[in-house]
Amino acid sequence: MKVLVPVKRVLDYNVKARVKSDNSGVDLANVKMSMNPFDEIAVEEAVRLQEAGTAAETIVVSIGPAKAQETIRTGLAMGIDRGVHVQTDEDLEPLAIAKILKSVAEAEGADLVVMGKQAIDNDYGATGGMLAAMLDWPIGSAANSVEHDGGAMTVVKEVDGGLQTVKLTLPAVVTTDLRLNEPRYATLPNIMKAKKKPIEAKTPADYSVDTAPRLTTVKVTEPAARKAGIKVEDAAQLVDKLKNEAGVI
Ligand code: AMP
Repeated sequence: MKVLVPVKRVLDYNVKARVKSDNSGVDLANVKMSMNPFDEIAVEEAVRLQEAGTAAETIVVSIGPAKAQETIRTGLAMGIDRGVHVQTDEDLEPLAIAKILKSVAEAEGADLVVMGKQAIDNDYGATGGMLAAMLDWPIGSAANSVEHDGGAMTVVKEVDGGLQTVKLTLPAVVTTDLRLNEPRYATLPNIMKAKKKPIEAKTPADYSVDTAPRLTTVKVTEPAARKAGIKVEDAAQLVDKLKNEAGVI
């Protein structure tokens, strides 16, 4: 089976986001960027499927600026076979991303797409569902565990009050949750090997996809600063403050 893993280059999760002075967005100049953490988990899952002999080929795809190639190389260094880079400097919306991914999945003849349940920069959590709908494939979203059996995948996900197990007939889309696995670190020899792995260069125009934006960002602002806390002398004072100042009891 052929596994496609879409990966997004995002602001590193350890970096505090700074809003641009004109409130038009987050300032990405000179800040550390990394692979979206949910996508690292998807890469790890695809590599494990390959190591288990279930996946015959694994492909990583990223849609983004020239530097998205670094993110693709990270996937290749973790063990993915080859990459596809769809180059654009536009910040595309999930619908446009999903349309491009649909074309890539069809062009590659993918049997399984494993991808993040959300990108941590915009938190849309929309692309996987849109992709599955447009391909008319089943989706196992926010996977906690994934098992392959024959022409199907069994996906377990956490839901309110327990675990839900779904069985998907391939081809299918699976989106990853944080508990699915712990992604490996790329070793130095594998980073060197990844430099020789092929990355195919594409553009959105190659897939004849309408990428026109449907959304306008009106304003981006910092979250309100938290007020300093206070120390109370005893439980009685706490109850008094909760009742008479906070008005919560
Ligand atoms: P989102 O719907 O934006 O929260 O993203 C969900 C998932 O879609 C991500 O975890 C990625 O797997 C995939 N994705 C989103 N944007 C891109 C992109 N520019 N290139 C490749 N994959 C992407």
